[in-house]
Amino acid sequence: MADFDADLVIGGGGPAGMIAGLLFARAGIDTLVLEKHKDFLRDFRGDTIHPSTLQIFHELGLLGELLKRDHVKVPVIHGRVAGEMIPVADFRHLPVAAPYIALMPQWDFLDFVAEAAARYPGFRLERCTEATGTIERDGRVAGVSLAGGGAARARKLVIAADGRHSVVRAGSGLPQETIGAPMDVFWFRLPKHAEPENETVGTFDPGRIFVMIDRRDYWQCAFVFPKGAADRIRAEGLDAFRRRVADVGPETAAAVDAIGSWEDVKLLTVTVDRLETWHKPGLLLIGDAAHAMSPIGGVGINLAIQDAVASANILAAAMAAGEAIDPLLAKVQARRMLPTRMTQGMQKLVQDRVVAPLLAGTHFDRPPVMLELLKRLPMLRRLPARVIGLGFRPEHVRSPEARGISPRI
Ligand SMILES: Cc1cc2nc3c(=O)[nH]c(=O)nc-3n(C[C@H](O)[C@H](O)[C@H](O)COP(=O)(O)OP(=O)(O)OC[C@H]3O[C@@H](n4cnc5c(N)ncnc54)[C@H](O)[C@@H]3O)c2cc1C
Repeated sequence: MADFDADLVIGGGGPAGMIAGLLFARAGIDTLVLEKHKDFLRDFRGDTIHPSTLQIFHELGLLGELLKRDHVKVPVIHGRVAGEMIPVADFRHLPVAAPYIALMPQWDFLDFVAEAAARYPGFRLERCTEATGTIERDGRVAGVSLAGGGAARARKLVIAADGRHSVVRAGSGLPQETIGAPMDVFWFRLPKHAEPENETVGTFDPGRIFVMIDRRDYWQCAFVFPKGAADRIRAEGLDAFRRRVADVGPETAAAVDAIGSWEDVKLLTVTVDRLETWHKPGLLLIGDAAHAMSPIGGVGINLAIQDAVASANILAAAMAAGEAIDPLLAKVQARRMLPTRMTQGMQKLVQDRVVAPLLAGTHFDRPPVMLELLKRLPMLRRLPARVIGLGFRPEHVRSPEARGISPRI
C-alpha cells in the first residue's frame, strides 16, 4: 500500500500532466505526478507535436534538445479528395521558432519531458500508480485515493489530467456537456515500401476516410468508420478489411499483408465532451479530463499542453508564495474555455459536414469550395495552419523558474 504527499498532486502522466509537472516543479513547487502505467509505451498516443508546443519548448530553452530526438517534420498537410492531392495547411509561415508539426512517438516526447522535469528537485513521477478517486477533507479535495488502498495527499492542489476516461472527473460530480462524435477509429501500422517522406495524408472519399501518418519507417494508419460499427467490420472478416485498406491506394495495397490478425488493429473510440465547470475547491481538471477532444485536426495534445501552461501561468507563482489557490482556479477555466469551445465547435462542424456524410457514403459532386480555394490560393493555406498549428489563444510560458536550478539537459 503506497502513501505519498506533495504540495501538488497531478493524476495522469500524459501530455497535460507531464507538462504541468515540469512547469510547477520548475517554479519550485513540490510536485508529484501519478501515472498508472509503468512506462509511456502505449498502442496509441497521438504523435503530433504542434508548432505552439514546440514554441513552449523554445521558451523553456529546451527546443534544441527536444529536436535531437528522432522525429519527422511536416511543414504542409495534404488531403487527398476524389483522388486529388490538395495542400490543406502550410505551417511554413507561422511566426514561431519551429514552423512545422514534428511527428515524434509520444513515449519519446513524454520521456523527454520526464527527464527535463527530473532536473528540478521538486519533481516526482510515480509510475504504476493509479488514482481511483478523490479524497476530501473539510469540504475540499485533499488528495486522491490509489488502487491498492493507499493515498496521495495534496497540501495545496490536485490537478486531474487523467484523460478522457478520467476517474477523477467521474467521481467529481461536476456537470458535463456531451458533444458526441459520429466515428470511431481502427489504428494500425503498415510498412513503408517506398519514399517519399513527409507525405502525411488523409484520403476522403464517399464511404472512406483513411489517414496515413508518415513515421519514416512505417505508416501509422487511421481507418475511420461510423461510430459503433467495429463489431460489424470485424464480423465481415480480416480479408474484407484488408481489401478495404488495399483499395485506398498503391501504398496500402503493397503493404496490407502486414495486417496479420485483428490483434494488429486497435480500436480507438472517439468521444467529444467538456465539463461545464473545471474545478472545485482543491481540484482542477485539465486536458482531456476537462474536455475530451475529437481527433479532427489532431489538436487534442496541443490543447492539453496549453491548459497545462495556462495553469502554471496562473497558479504557480501564487502557490510558491503560499497564497490561497482555490480563488484562482476559475481563472484557469476562464482562460481556456474559449479556445476549447472554439476548437470543439470547429471539430463538430467538420464531423457534421464532412465526416458523417462521407462515412454514410454521400457523393459530393465536387470538392467543397473551401478545398478548391485552398488549391488555388496558397496564401489561404496559412489560415488552417494557424488554427491547427497554433490554435485559438496560444499560451506562452509566464510561470517563474525558481532560482538556483537549471533544467538544461
Ligand atoms: C482516435 C484518436 C486520435 C487522436 N489523434 C490525435 C493526434 O494525432 N494529435 C493530437 O494532438 N491529438 C489526438 N487525439 C486527441 C489526444 O489523444 C488527446 O486530446 C490528448 O492525448 C489529451 O492529453 P491528456 O494529457 O489530457 O490525456 P491523455 O493523453 O489521455 O493522458 C492521460 C494519462 O493519464 C494516465 N491515466 C489515466 N487514468 C489514470 C489514473 N486513474 N491514474 C493515473 N494515471 C492515469 C494515462 O495512462 C495517460 O498517460 C486523438 C484522439 C483520438 C480518440
